[in-house]
Amino acid sequence: MIYNEEFETLPREVLEALQLKRLKQVIQRVYHTVGFYRRVFDEAGVTPDDIKTLDDLKRFPFTTKQDLRDNYPFGMFAVPMSSVVRLHASSGTTGRSTVVGYTKRDIDTWSELMARCFVAAGLTKNDIIHNAYGYGLFTGGLGAHYGAEKLGASVIPISGGNTKRQIMILQDFGPTAICCTPSYALNLAEQGKAMGIDMKALNLRVGVFGAEPWSEQMRQEIENLLNITALNIFGLSEMMGPGVAMECLEGRHGMHIFEDHFLVETINAETGEVLPPGEEGELVFTTITKEAFPLIRYRTRDLSRLFTEPCRCGRTLHRMDRVMGRSDDMLIIRGVNVFPSQIEAILLAIEGVEPHYQLIVERTGNLDTLEIQVEVGEQIFSNADEVKVLQNMERRIVKDIKDYLGVSAKVKLVEPKTIQRLEGKVIRVLDKRRI
Ligand code: ADP
Ligand code: ZN
Repeated sequence: MIYNEEFETLPREVLEALQLKRLKQVIQRVYHTVGFYRRVFDEAGVTPDDIKTLDDLKRFPFTTKQDLRDNYPFGMFAVPMSSVVRLHASSGTTGRSTVVGYTKRDIDTWSELMARCFVAAGLTKNDIIHNAYGYGLFTGGLGAHYGAEKLGASVIPISGGNTKRQIMILQDFGPTAICCTPSYALNLAEQGKAMGIDMKALNLRVGVFGAEPWSEQMRQEIENLLNITALNIFGLSEMMGPGVAMECLEGRHGMHIFEDHFLVETINAETGEVLPPGEEGELVFTTITKEAFPLIRYRTRDLSRLFTEPCRCGRTLHRMDRVMGRSDDMLIIRGVNVFPSQIEAILLAIEGVEPHYQLIVERTGNLDTLEIQVEVGEQIFSNADEVKVLQNMERRIVKDIKDYLGVSAKVKLVEPKTIQRLEGKVIRVLDKRRI
């Protein structure tokens, strides 16, 4: 089944004509309303009139996460705040998080795209959707929520956490679908089992999982443990949130990208050169309908590849492979995006902490754990109140990491020179997760 039969199955040439028309409009609009774009287009020697074909987009400069940080919080908005009806932010309350805004029409578009995702997963208004994506500043919860309502399904806005209660609701309300991160789905399955509940006998039929990388093996495991069909959904706040691309039941090979709203390219992450379909590279997206927060050639840092072969479902939208990694050092811990540099900034703001630290990420059971090992200055160990001082420092770090980044970490303070250095350099991240 297809939610928007007309737009999801356009003949490619009609779709491309529509894309070109929309691209011209958005390039014009950002040039005239966003100071940043006027500047970088001028610097690159391009003007909106240079867009004659879709291929001309290549001549325009990329937008990076750093650009968004430099224009924090609202500098990239293309409409006045009076037209913005919603704000979201990706990880953290520090000045480094990414703030995104939506007009009423942007919210409508996003809701429709999420509704398209649910229909691609075989859902209808008769379904009950257990939405365990986090509600709040993250886009996951509200994004899926609005999509479910748009479809007319019954949504349970359970949000994340409180796993025992979630399991009770799964049993009592009998939802037919669940949305959450894939690792949380495994966690629910295992905790339920440990509580003596037959998780395969629940009413669940399908799961829409995303916001973090997962593998084919994880899919198998989730499908077996919960007796459901598990589908992959992709998105990022900068584009709008979840619902940029979604697998269909028929294909289950790559996620259809909603190309009537987003243009996609894959590039060589080092050289910036545009790659042909099928080749692995960094995904770059351009929004062509967004009003409040349009982005031109946004570098996602997500590595994937594009499939252009037709799909059995009838959608003509190209597909992207599951995300295979990142071209930067961003970690996703329990669905929360964390950059080592953010942790570093928090650590270094604390007196007595040395700039030598290591982040150890593991998956215990199905939950990601983060341990921060950090060296503290010599003088602390010669302090009479050594133990107390260390305890306070540890507590402060745990609290600051939780407050600013929203992740729980275990902190281990170590003596100077304890953390191994290779060629003088500390290995900042040890990601031991086998996903
Ligand atoms: P979200 O709330 O959708 O996670 P964020 O902006 O916080 O939005 O995070 C977006 C990032 O999450 C993406 O750039 C990508 O790295 C990761 N991500 C989202 N969906 C998936 C997915 N299905 N598979 C792998 N990674 C994903
Ligand atoms: Zn398909």
